[in-house]
Amino acid sequence: MSTVNGAAHKPKVNGKTPHGVEPAPAPRLALSVKRVEEGESIIVRFLSDEYGGCITHYIRKRSEYCAGEKCRYQCHKERKYWKGYAPVEVNIDGTNKWRPYVLELTEHLELDLRGIVRRGQVWRIYRLHPVEGEKQPVSAERRPDQQWSSLTPPFDVLPVVRQLYHEFELVLNKKNPLPPRIVITDAEADAPVKIEADYCGPEMPIEQREAILALRRERKSIREIMDATGLPGEIVRSLIAYEEAVHTKMLADGKV
Ligand SMILES: [Zn+2]
Repeated sequence: MSTVNGAAHKPKVNGKTPHGVEPAPAPRLALSVKRVEEGESIIVRFLSDEYGGCITHYIRKRSEYCAGEKCRYQCHKERKYWKGYAPVEVNIDGTNKWRPYVLELTEHLELDLRGIVRRGQVWRIYRLHPVEGEKQPVSAERRPDQQWSSLTPPFDVLPVVRQLYHEFELVLNKKNPLPPRIVITDAEADAPVKIEADYCGPEMPIEQREAILALRRERKSIREIMDATGLPGEIVRSLIAYEEAVHTKMLADGKV
């Protein structure tokens, strides 16, 4: 079990260890914020079902706290971003050691966790490197549940977040304004009618297309083609427009 403001002590005799050698003191680590960077993947254990959030502005490459009506920033009316903070422990290199952190939640990450995350659950939190220059969101993937021999009590994240923003009136009472994800499933139905692979005109069976073009070659009007085929004018017109565009392009390319 890791501790927050409650260091564990080894038994000592007259201020010395049983071997008579004063061990190097364990490094004093301060609780800090964990932000998942590009190309990083971590395993975390959530210590609480709940997390708090606040609204921020992104100014000069950093997030600044928006205090709502008391907001001090010129860009207050511009885009705002929600940031959340949750008490977690980050696993150290797959060992049995878990270090407490205040995990920063982005809007996208919160959508992955929303309604699911509970105390004691393990999640992988990761962010891919940019793909074709486009930044990738922080994402979460749930790991199998475990029976814990011990589970650290949740701790208050507020002092750490206040320090992070250097805002001592900061409160974490805002919910992520993004609407929930809409979960979809694929439908099973009939496959679409096959048409020639290289054809990019209006979608229709190939027989229908040939029939329209044959009538067009006979210099029939659109009305006559509609009557002969029983197809709506919209389809007849869009096929003819497509064929004419292809013909014009071929003329321009010297292929006709
Ligand atoms: Zn603001």
